[in-house]
Amino acid sequence: MFVRLFILADMDNPSKKKKIIIAIDGHSSCGKSTLAKELAKELDYVYVDSGAMYRAVSLYFDEHQISLDSSEMVAEALKNISISFSNVKGINTTFLNGQNVEKEIRSLRISDMVSDVAAISAVRSKLVDEQQKMGKNKGIVMDGRDIGSVVFPQAELKLFVTADVKIRGIRRYEELLEKGFNVSLEEILNNLNKRDHIDSTRDDSPLIQADDAVLLDNSHLTKREQLQKVKDWALELINELN
Ligand code: C5P
Repeated sequence: MFVRLFILADMDNPSKKKKIIIAIDGHSSCGKSTLAKELAKELDYVYVDSGAMYRAVSLYFDEHQISLDSSEMVAEALKNISISFSNVKGINTTFLNGQNVEKEIRSLRISDMVSDVAAISAVRSKLVDEQQKMGKNKGIVMDGRDIGSVVFPQAELKLFVTADVKIRGIRRYEELLEKGFNVSLEEILNNLNKRDHIDSTRDDSPLIQADDAVLLDNSHLTKREQLQKVKDWALELINELN
């Protein structure tokens, strides 16, 4: 009796529960990061914004004038790049070589070059390796473009998120205005279309919906409705495991 009670108490302890990997991929600016962040908070999981890692590499290349056509320069630069995340005043913040670059990596200048940087295999190989290490203990929600297809093909829950491109453009426009960037809706829409095209047509790890990924079109869902839906799916899988 005592043993059984002990086991039950142990199962109720969230830190002892078996954890899963949640991979969230999809088109640019469809709210993947917000969803992933909130879901991780609800489940007490680690959240990783893999796009921020590609953005940080792009910022480094931009600042150090690394030619994307020179494999030698790219390889040398990658050796000098260290990316980490930390919680700053409740906000998941990206650090490049110890420096807070959270704001710089969101600029349109970086958005304009990031997909070209992300198409370079040497860049992907370094970042995928780091992402896989972050997920070795499971209990992680990672969003990106190739998380369910390449980084964690074994992920228990895979989502492919999309939304109407105009709706995505308006959302991103409002978000950037709020962050103090001076941009036009037209520039944003051009950038989204360009990135989706490069991301879906590149040779290495193109953006695709994995066979076992659930398609989620959030054009007409509120953030809350979307979170509830995905949280229910995740909890069902977690409960089946425990
Ligand atoms: O997620 P976010 O829009 O910030 O990502 C920026 C860019 O980084 C994407 O447009 C894509 O080119 C690249 N990316 C990628 N693979 C990932 C995450 C992002 O190629 N897993």
